[in-house]
Amino acid sequence: MEPFRLSQVAVVGLGKSGRAAIDLLLSRGVRVVGVDEKAEVEQSDQLREKGVRLHLGGITSDALAGAQGVVVSPGVPLDKPVLQQAARSGVAVMGEIELAYRMLPTGAGPLLGITGTNGKSTTTALLGHLQQTAGRHTFIGGNLGRPFSEACAERFDVHVVEMSSFQLEGIVETSFLGGAILNITPDHLDRYPDPRAYAAAKGRIFDNMPQSGFAVVNADDATVVALARGAQERLARLKKQYLAVYAFSMGEGLPGFDGLALAEANGFRFNFGEKSFFEVANRALRGAHNLQNAMAASLMASLHGVPAKVISQGLATFGGLPHRLEWVREVNGVEWVNDSKATNVDSSVVALRALTGRVWLIAGGKGKGAPYAPMVDAAKGKLRGVLTIGHDAPNVKQAFGAECPVHDCQTLERAVSKATELAKAGDTVLLSPACASYDQFKNFEERGDSFKRLVRSL
Ligand code: ADP
Repeated sequence: MEPFRLSQVAVVGLGKSGRAAIDLLLSRGVRVVGVDEKAEVEQSDQLREKGVRLHLGGITSDALAGAQGVVVSPGVPLDKPVLQQAARSGVAVMGEIELAYRMLPTGAGPLLGITGTNGKSTTTALLGHLQQTAGRHTFIGGNLGRPFSEACAERFDVHVVEMSSFQLEGIVETSFLGGAILNITPDHLDRYPDPRAYAAAKGRIFDNMPQSGFAVVNADDATVVALARGAQERLARLKKQYLAVYAFSMGEGLPGFDGLALAEANGFRFNFGEKSFFEVANRALRGAHNLQNAMAASLMASLHGVPAKVISQGLATFGGLPHRLEWVREVNGVEWVNDSKATNVDSSVVALRALTGRVWLIAGGKGKGAPYAPMVDAAKGKLRGVLTIGHDAPNVKQAFGAECPVHDCQTLERAVSKATELAKAGDTVLLSPACASYDQFKNFEERGDSFKRLVRSL
């Protein structure tokens, strides 16, 4: 079953994690067949030069023939008949995380996993930073940044791994010492038959926990709490094992947890141990949503032995992730904030709620058809005006027109220049488009980077 004992493995899906899996397998002398639905993939020559046999243009049983293991990328559904057939015939079918887990060097540190619908990347980066602040050699990656396969080349003290629901479906024995579920709202319903199946996939993060394992969940999210309770029952029944569950809450929390992190003004407090108070005053952690992310990361760090003093230090020095309420610059008393990652209305609502004071909003792009009204509500009392860009500008204007002045700028460049004219000292200019970027940019990163370039050249 161990993949490094397998002589031939098929890697299905030749994206970033598939390629990382290929490099890992090749480094262990395994023969690799690369399979993809697409007839053409990037850098296919390079793959061939490395010795990978390519099967492009379809995931077929022919392509998988001869492989004793199949590593499936998160973009490929595991319930594809050809994969199920392979599994039935005794082939080890797994995701890239599972492959890497089994190939970690001996003595490698434990895994701390983070999942949820929103906030995964921020919480993963923050928990990684808390671990690094504690002086631990820390791998940070998974769904964010570096594929987990890259963790196998070195011995890390601890692995902080962002897990999507698709990656969680692909685990078999992967065991997380700690697992956090931040929140669950219906998502990816194109891939799941119903919201319960999506939630169940997230719940797998608790499945293989050791005796000393711990779960961290959002006490204010009933779906998440139910998953933790379900896992507790399952582990008790199947393995006679007690799963410790800690929770964080913006309110009073709930009874029945092993410990709570409770939000207070400007921070939060643990109700266990030394009952420490942690200040969250870092600009990179603005907003109630980031307070939740900070509580989750701090619980995980604390349960994994990071002292309270170090956690406080890490919360203060965390630099944040690009394109998520990212502070860019202050010019003549005006703050410029890049929230290009907000490609939907929900994310822009979160951003508008997080900011205080007077806000100029740059929004628009390739719309997703959802009404903008929730943003109007979230911005009540703070909005000075809206600067629209991109394809969906007319709909944005319609939503905000009755609320505040709306200037149609069409391009980001013109929006920045208009905002420079209009904004006064004390105002914030927020790029939080609530739309995809594809009408004018390659992706949200390119959109955010151009915004930052424009702002830096002011
Ligand atoms: P993910 O990796 O899950 O997409 P990110 O940390 O990249 O999460 O955040 C993406 C967006 O989700 C943020 O820009 C913000 O709008 C929203 N968000 C972040 N954390 C939370 C949270 N705890 N609850 C709800 N929304 C959040």
